[in-house]
Amino acid sequence: MSSANDIVIPAHLLPRDGRFGAGPSKVRQAQLDALMADGLTYMGTSHRQDTVKNKVGEVRDGLRALFNLPDGYEVLLGNGGTTCFWDAATFHLVAQQSQHLSFGEFSSKFASSVADAPFLNDPQIIKSDVGTHPRAVADDSVDLYALTHNETSTGVMMEIRRPDGASGLVAVDATSGAGGLRVDPTQFDCYYFAPQKSFASDGGLWLALCSPAAVERIETLAASDRWTPAFFDLKIALDNSRLNQTYNTPSLATIHMLASQINWFNENGGLDFSAGRSERSAEILYSWADASDFASPFVQNVEERSKVIGTIDFIDGVDAAAIAKILRRHGVVDTEPYRKLGRNQLRIAMFPSIDPEDIASLCASINYVVGALAN
Ligand SMILES: *Cc1c(COP(=O)(O)O)cnc(C)c1O
Repeated sequence: MSSANDIVIPAHLLPRDGRFGAGPSKVRQAQLDALMADGLTYMGTSHRQDTVKNKVGEVRDGLRALFNLPDGYEVLLGNGGTTCFWDAATFHLVAQQSQHLSFGEFSSKFASSVADAPFLNDPQIIKSDVGTHPRAVADDSVDLYALTHNETSTGVMMEIRRPDGASGLVAVDATSGAGGLRVDPTQFDCYYFAPQKSFASDGGLWLALCSPAAVERIETLAASDRWTPAFFDLKIALDNSRLNQTYNTPSLATIHMLASQINWFNENGGLDFSAGRSERSAEILYSWADASDFASPFVQNVEERSKVIGTIDFIDGVDAAAIAKILRRHGVVDTEPYRKLGRNQLRIAMFPSIDPEDIASLCASINYVVGALAN
């Protein structure tokens, strides 16, 4: 057997870009070039002046177009990323009781945040086995259904639909799904995400596409006597967003790279283009794994198999961690599995920035490594 340290993947097999991480994820060269080109007039200028405010406006208008938002929907943003938004939603989106679909590391976290809130009833939590997703069940006492478009820890995606007969708001954690998966905006009230995944920017910001019903909920709770820290106050975020600002200072580079990515999507056909790229990558990855005698898709139900995050199991005699390590030595990085899942697995991002041809090259490189490890 070759020692892992001696294996050299032939250069012609390697992906042109080696970034396959689930987030922060590949930022395209064109986004970095655009930031450099604007660098001296944009970076280091006030976020309360037009140069930056217009960029925030570009992001908000661009998202409205990308998601084809119906009249009355608003784009909110603030600092702190998705994890911060969970706390903000706990204060200003859940009226009394929420229902959470919990099917992995990320989808369980919002539920914990709500469960800890002394002013809310205990949330309903519906779980399913890892590698699958549960279904929401309409209940008259539920005023917010918490769904997750793509569970990044397991590579399970779910179609976003209002639960039959439900009257509560539908809030969707779309952190890794937004921009890479198709969605019908009439099926959600709040679709929230952060820019370091399909939007190929940096972390630390949250964005939320809110229906008129979600905006009304925010206004009602903000006017109630529920004490809310200003940082988690969605009414403050709403008022600032309407002015193309954030409550406190944002990262300007993050906003710039985010705007470039949204423009790239919109100029090429919108979600059809961006989700189409992820769909092509997924087709390549899963057909390779299905045909392989040492690798197979972890998610059994084809409908639930994510088009943005692929989780691939390896048979016992093939050590996925060793493969990831050899790939990393060649500049092909972040294919390691989600640490807490504990499987003999690789996790591969297929966000729109990632070229489908690079997914094909990655599969060829893995074939080469597995062959070399066996010889
Ligand atoms: C990455 C991710 C998060 C966490 O986002 P942060 O911006 O780091 O807080 C939450 N939910 C999902 C589904 C994610 O993929």
